[in-house]
Amino acid sequence: DLAAGVMAEIRLRAQLAARERMQAQLVEATREAERANHAKSDFLNRMSHELRTPLNSIIGFANLILQRGGSRPASERTYIERIRDNGMHLLGLINEVLDIARVESGHLEITLGIVDVGALVRGVIAQLESRVAGTPVSLRAEVPEDMRAITSDEVRLRQVLINLVGNALKFTQEGSVTVRVTADAQGTPCTIAVVDTGIGIPAERLQAIFEPFEQADASTSVRFGGTGLGLAISRDLCRLMGCALHVESVVGRGSTFTIELPERPPRP
Ligand code: ADP
Repeated sequence: DLAAGVMAEIRLRAQLAARERMQAQLVEATREAERANHAKSDFLNRMSHELRTPLNSIIGFANLILQRGGSRPASERTYIERIRDNGMHLLGLINEVLDIARVESGHLEITLGIVDVGALVRGVIAQLESRVAGTPVSLRAEVPEDMRAITSDEVRLRQVLINLVGNALKFTQEGSVTVRVTADAQGTPCTIAVVDTGIGIPAERLQAIFEPFEQADASTSVRFGGTGLGLAISRDLCRLMGCALHVESVVGRGSTFTIELPERPPRP
C-alpha cells in the first residue's frame, strides 16, 4: 500500500511538472505571437508611408503637367493621363490592402459622429453618377422624408456605400441601381440596401465573395477587373460600426446588398 501511495504521489508530481512546463511554453508562445503582430503592424505602417509618398508625388506631378497645358502632341497627353490613372489605381489597391491588414490586426478604429443618412446616400449617388452617363443604367436613391440622424462613422459608412454602389454599377449592364433606405415609424433609419438588376451571383458563392481576394468566379477579374477586397473590407467595417451586411441574389436578375443599421449606437 505504501509503495502504491508513493507511486501515485510521484505520478501526480510528474503531471504537475509537465503542466507547469506547458503553461510556461504557452506564455512564451503568446508573447512570441504578440511580438510578431507588433512587428507586422509596424511594418505595415512604415510600408504604407513608403509606398504612398512616392505614389502621391507621381500622381501630383502628372496632374501638374496635365494642367499646365501648352502645346503637346495628343499621344503624349494620353501617356501622362495613363501614368496618373494607373498611379491612382495602385494607390487605391494599397489603401485596400492596408485597410484589410489594419482590421485584422485590430488597428482600424472608427470615429462616431452624427450622420444624416439621406444626405450621405445622395452624396454617394452624386459622386458616382458620372459613371452611368450615356449608359442604359439609371442610378437613383429612394430615401424616406424626415429621417432622424444616426450615430455612426460617416467616413467609413460612405466607404462601404461607395464600394457597394461601385460593385452594383460594375456588374450591371442595363436596368437600374437603387439605393433604398428604410426607416421605422419614428423615422429612425433601419436599413440601407443597394439593389441592382445586374448579372447576379450564384448561390454557392454568396458566402465566399466576402472573403479577401475572392470573386464570384475565375472570369470576373478578366471581365470586370477588381481584386476581391472590397466586400471583405466592407463587412469588417460594418462589423466595427455595429451593422450587419448581407446579400441576396438571383443569377441573371440582380443582387441586393443590405446594410442593417444597429438599433443602438456602437461602442466608441
Ligand atoms: P472586386 O469587386 O474588386 O472583385 P469585391 O470584394 O467588391 O471585389 O467583390 C467580390 C466579388 O463579388 C466580385 O468580384 C463579384 O464577383 C461579386 N460581386 C460583388 N458585388 C456584385 C454585384 N452587385 N453583382 C454581381 N456580383 C457582385
